[in-house]
Amino acid sequence: MIVKEGVDTMNVEMNERIAQIRYEIDEAVRKAGRSDGVSLMAVSKNHPYEAVADALGCNMTLFGENRVQEIAGKFTERKEGEFTLRLIGHLQSNKVKKAVSLVDGIDSVDSEKLVRLIDKESEKAGKVMPVLLEIDTAKDGTKHGFGDKDDLFRTLEVISSLHHVKVEGLMTVGPQTSVETKIYKAFNSLRLLQDECAQQFPDLDFHQLSMGMSGDFRIAIEAGSTIVRIGTAIFGSRGY
Ligand SMILES: *Cc1c(COP(=O)(O)O)cnc(C)c1O
Repeated sequence: MIVKEGVDTMNVEMNERIAQIRYEIDEAVRKAGRSDGVSLMAVSKNHPYEAVADALGCNMTLFGENRVQEIAGKFTERKEGEFTLRLIGHLQSNKVKKAVSLVDGIDSVDSEKLVRLIDKESEKAGKVMPVLLEIDTAKDGTKHGFGDKDDLFRTLEVISSLHHVKVEGLMTVGPQTSVETKIYKAFNSLRLLQDECAQQFPDLDFHQLSMGMSGDFRIAIEAGSTIVRIGTAIFGSRGY
């Protein structure tokens, strides 16, 4: 076989890391006795576009970023339909317009006010924006997200009446602890809440549970996660 130098530019190490993660996802799905699949989101925050390009070369198609400013600077060359990019970090009101123009979904919606703003800007842009509602399951005072069920249900009422946001499910960041039972409990509470939302709002299409990061995605899958958001285990440490 003739090896052409410089032609095969795949990042082999990254490809192996992703293969390992996919293997562990499959193992966790199998252990949980689940028959559905789990999507792998590559969280490229604090890494340059070259890292994203490497991940594209490893067949990643779903990306998550935390900050609108960083997305605006990093994804200047993105072609329509090349890959899916979703916002997973806290969104400030004054960045909604920009976010709506840049991303394919907003997974960190944490207030009724934000829902209304996203709807308004999406209408202006001629879009229907897919969203996930972020829930504070860790309740340790450091996380964003709805902490109150009444608040969440009121917001879902509002969403039912809007035409330019489409809720797909819930998202959470698990608690910062090594105690696995605590992590499982938090993730399981999100699944139970999802079931309750689906029952209360049968017209809304709840089907996604975004939970699990590099350190806890196996536990999240056990609890029913449908999307895991992986940064460090794909791209390495972010150096902060
Ligand atoms: C950074 C981040 C991730 C990825 O975290 P890792 O531990 O690096 O896998 C996932 N979700 C959110 C909301 C994040 O901010």
